[in-house]
Amino acid sequence: MKNIRLGKTDITVPQNAFGALPIQRVSEDEAVSLLRNAYDGGMRFFDTARAYSDSEEKVGKAFEGMREKVFISSKTQATTKAKFEEDLNTTLSNLKTDYVDIYQLHCAAKCYNEEDEIYNALVEAKKQGKVRHIGITAHKIGVAEDIVKSGLYETLQFPFSYLASERDIELVKSCKENDIGFIAMKGLSGGLLTNSRACMAFMSQFDALPIWGIQRQSELNEWLGFFGNEAEMTEEIKAEIEKDRNELLGEFCRGCGYCMPCTVDITINQCARMSQMIRRAPSQNWLTDYWQQEMLKIDSCVECGLCKTRCPYELDIPELLKKNLKDYKEILAGKPV
Ligand code: SF4
Ligand code: SF4
Repeated sequence: MKNIRLGKTDITVPQNAFGALPIQRVSEDEAVSLLRNAYDGGMRFFDTARAYSDSEEKVGKAFEGMREKVFISSKTQATTKAKFEEDLNTTLSNLKTDYVDIYQLHCAAKCYNEEDEIYNALVEAKKQGKVRHIGITAHKIGVAEDIVKSGLYETLQFPFSYLASERDIELVKSCKENDIGFIAMKGLSGGLLTNSRACMAFMSQFDALPIWGIQRQSELNEWLGFFGNEAEMTEEIKAEIEKDRNELLGEFCRGCGYCMPCTVDITINQCARMSQMIRRAPSQNWLTDYWQQEMLKIDSCVECGLCKTRCPYELDIPELLKKNLKDYKEILAGKPV
């Protein structure tokens, strides 16, 4: 397994890391067991966030007494100094530690700089030793490019999978050129990609640290399996990636849920990508009475536009929903998937 050095942080870990968002959905015992098994299997980098309900607490419990053996990154959505300090103290208490390896501004709407109190609060926390390195996460490519140009952050976290555009790939390369650690989120593109070997083989071509979102032992086993059996890019995998790219590229919903809640309670993060999900997972799961009712809610969209203002990918959500509903109705009427 190749090691990744996260730019000037000098943090060097195997290119196979743990994204701790999904562990909020399992019990504490299950989460602790997953995290410890990940460590035993070779993972050394764990990414969590204040916004992931009890994820930090579970990470803290798992690594109590062995803090120095792992690297932990977390995030805050704060935009003021006061909220930042409150969040950081909560993070440290949850993680049962007196430092966090990388503290990131979460889903930044812009590149915060010395004129912003939130950036100065981050720098101050680093001086105090509570934060070893300062990072930021972004979903918009323009914001991410500004972050790299600014030189103000030691790491950047950004969505990156084999559906990446040329511009995304350039971003990863510019991080390397500027010695900024690149942390790749959504390596499975929000669950749309299911071929873990292809995802890992793609990632291995870049200086990027993937944080795979893991909820089950079976998922963890897949990722741990690459420690002894590396995923290399082959002609066969290239062909599979090309096939997926042809099917999925363009304006597609990543399922992140940032656009929610919807004014009329549409489950946007599933309904806006139903056409892909229904063709990529056993379709019966998406044709139940429950999902039929959920999809029919799309007809009640009042076009308030609220969701559009929140989508980091600037998708035309009402249009996307309509397209998905049309396709769904055709499938219900017998169109083959
Ligand atoms: S535009 Fe439609 S989908 Fe978006 S929040 Fe408003 S009602 Fe919901
Ligand atoms: S529409 Fe946009 S914000 Fe909403 S789930 Fe999809 S990608 Fe995320």
